[in-house]
Amino acid sequence: TIAYLNGEFKPLEQAQISPMDRGFLFGDGIYEVVPSYAGKLVAGNLHAQRMNRGLSEIGIKVLAEESNWVAIAEGLLARNLDHLPDQNVGIYIHVSRGADTKRFHAFPEGVKPTVFAFAFSIAPSAVPDRTQAKGLHVQTQEDLRWRRCHIKSTSLLGNVMHFQDSFGKGINETVLYNQDGMVTEASVSNVFAVIDGEIVTPPLDNQLLPGITRHILINSIRKDGQYQLVERQITLEELKGADEVWLTSSSKEVAPVVMIDNQAVGNGVVGEVWEQVAKSYHTHKFSF
Ligand code: PMP
Repeated sequence: TIAYLNGEFKPLEQAQISPMDRGFLFGDGIYEVVPSYAGKLVAGNLHAQRMNRGLSEIGIKVLAEESNWVAIAEGLLARNLDHLPDQNVGIYIHVSRGADTKRFHAFPEGVKPTVFAFAFSIAPSAVPDRTQAKGLHVQTQEDLRWRRCHIKSTSLLGNVMHFQDSFGKGINETVLYNQDGMVTEASVSNVFAVIDGEIVTPPLDNQLLPGITRHILINSIRKDGQYQLVERQITLEELKGADEVWLTSSSKEVAPVVMIDNQAVGNGVVGEVWEQVAKSYHTHKFSF
């Protein structure tokens, strides 16, 4: 595996960083995961823009010539596709504030950010078929992370703990709700539901990540015009009573949920609306 570190492509085993790196000591950094299929990135520019927004929000400055995220991702694809023969590849890009000489919370002056990236296999992207799709089982929990969830921070312990709680029970994800009982997102994905014939998803704010898959799905649904979609608050009760629930993320695309807290979603099988919108997603995803 060829990775990327601070301007150079090199074997992953040779990519080394300092233990004083603030990414290691504080989780002080921003990351992205960009999916690709057969060598083509999905929404590379949208991922690059979100990366730059996150970096500017936390005050990390990367030189323009070192922050061509799409070029780094394409460079990794070019060097790794031959040994990732299924051609479904995720690109992980991570920028930390860099290695200081001391452990001190305040942002250091004159420290160069660390830029690291590598490629890994992701699930294949098949044409959605509800007779074939395996529905996910999820649980719900109150969101116990921080209140800046719109930043794609590398500090993921809160997400890791919510995800592990479901994984340890042999289920797929933890859907999160806030103190007012409103669904926000899940530990590694965004949430959609079909309620009274309408597709709904929580509006963007500081309680959830502005998912790129979410963005592509919303715009694909609007382009095709077959269904109404609204961004609005969803209560936990509404979610549990929804006809369909789906999760979106770069590595799982649009995934149907069939069980929430041990109760069937709708009639307990993968839904029709899912098949239609997941097809829209599949058709349009390379045009963002
Ligand atoms: N929310 C959280 C907390 C996530 O970690 C992710 C991605 N891993 C998402 C939503 C989905 O974002 P995207 O569609 O950009 O992958």
